[in-house]
Amino acid sequence: MPAREVDYEAIVVGAGLVGLAAAVALARAGLRVALVDRSKIEVGTLSSTEDDWDARVYAISPGSACFLRTLGVWQRVPSERIAAIETMEVFGDAGGEITFSAYELGERALAWIVENHELNAALVETMRTTPGIDCLAPDSPSAVAWSADRVELRMADDRSIAGRILVAADGVNSWVRAQAGITISPRSYGQTAIVANFATERAHRGRAFQWFLDDESVLAWLPLPGRRISIVWSAPETLATELRAMTQEALALRVAGAGKGALGRLTCITSATGFPLTFLRLPGVIGPRLALVGDAAHGVHPLAGQGVNLGFGDAAALASALAARTLVGDAGSAFLLERYALHRAAPVLAMQAVTDGLVRLFGTSFPLVKLARNGGMRVVDALGPLKRLLAQPALR
Ligand SMILES: Cc1cc2nc3c(=O)[nH]c(=O)nc-3n(C[C@H](O)[C@H](O)[C@H](O)COP(=O)(O)OP(=O)(O)OC[C@H]3O[C@@H](n4cnc5c(N)ncnc54)[C@H](O)[C@@H]3O)c2cc1C
Repeated sequence: MPAREVDYEAIVVGAGLVGLAAAVALARAGLRVALVDRSKIEVGTLSSTEDDWDARVYAISPGSACFLRTLGVWQRVPSERIAAIETMEVFGDAGGEITFSAYELGERALAWIVENHELNAALVETMRTTPGIDCLAPDSPSAVAWSADRVELRMADDRSIAGRILVAADGVNSWVRAQAGITISPRSYGQTAIVANFATERAHRGRAFQWFLDDESVLAWLPLPGRRISIVWSAPETLATELRAMTQEALALRVAGAGKGALGRLTCITSATGFPLTFLRLPGVIGPRLALVGDAAHGVHPLAGQGVNLGFGDAAALASALAARTLVGDAGSAFLLERYALHRAAPVLAMQAVTDGLVRLFGTSFPLVKLARNGGMRVVDALGPLKRLLAQPALR
């Protein structure tokens, strides 16, 4: 029996970076899409001037950049706002060191650093010019009802919209996930990531740095265009509170010191902002007429800069699975959803195991473990093929 008419084939709740990408990818696969967000969907208030640099940046993997290019998003990010990571130097807390080089891996860049403001603007503009997407924002869904052939979303004003599949892209504390009866909550790492941008005395020449420090914090310096860097300092709460309370001058001295003056004197060019860090692992990312994507589906520590990359991978895989809907006549069929879940299971599990494993490994001060982890870094650094193997998931 043919399914009764619905308003949309896919309803995407959440228009963060992943929800926007999912909506565009699904529409390009031919689906009629509704994109719902409780906030206004806008390109943002920052201006892209030499003095205005968003401290919220992402390391976008070559694989994600390629996906965004196929959507027509990457081309909209001004090239002068993108910086390539050509080498990444990682330091342990007792002499361990690994260097990854794009050149050695046969890539143009290990990742591309892009500001949130720029990426969001490019996604919003692409979404607005992609046929087949209705944007319902700001609007908050108040209830969901699943039935055999559809899913209905009641909005705050009591209006309802119906679709074949609901895509939860509403972040780590997903409302849709809770409505579907998935009650697992994110686990706090007891850490806050402090982000800020700095002007540097010396040129970074495409180098990124990461230090696993003695105090169980992880400090990353990421290259921005020109003599600028963006930092992500994942710090236990006491240190995070201390860093946020500092004047810009004191913070610049502290960050330069923690990075052993690798780029000379630093000057703070934004204020410092904090993001609480959580881990989320779910037993599954699908349900009847439901697919979870992005942080709604998984939470990872930002030390490998992979959260949004995993989310873009979800969006790509979901669009590719649902593109085959004409074969089964229903975009919400269990067959298609299972294909999506199967496709994402291994990459997500691998990334969660690596990032969470690293946090645990460097979160213990037991001397033997410290010796082993730093020795391990030196061994991996010396073994080219193993290093290449480790780098592959992050590149794709
Ligand atoms: C400090 C830090 C650095 C990071 N660096 C990197 C990096 O370098 N590379 C990388 O790949 N990842 C990085 N990440 C991870 C990345 O930020 C996240 O994975 C990504 O932003 C998640 O995007 P999302 O669209 O899934 O969720 P979100 O950005 O949380 O978006 C959720 C959207 O849903 C909407 N919403 C929520 N609830 C509702 C509701 N009930 N109804 C309607 N709408 C709703 C919200 O308004 C929002 O627009 C970093 C994270 C942190 C904290």
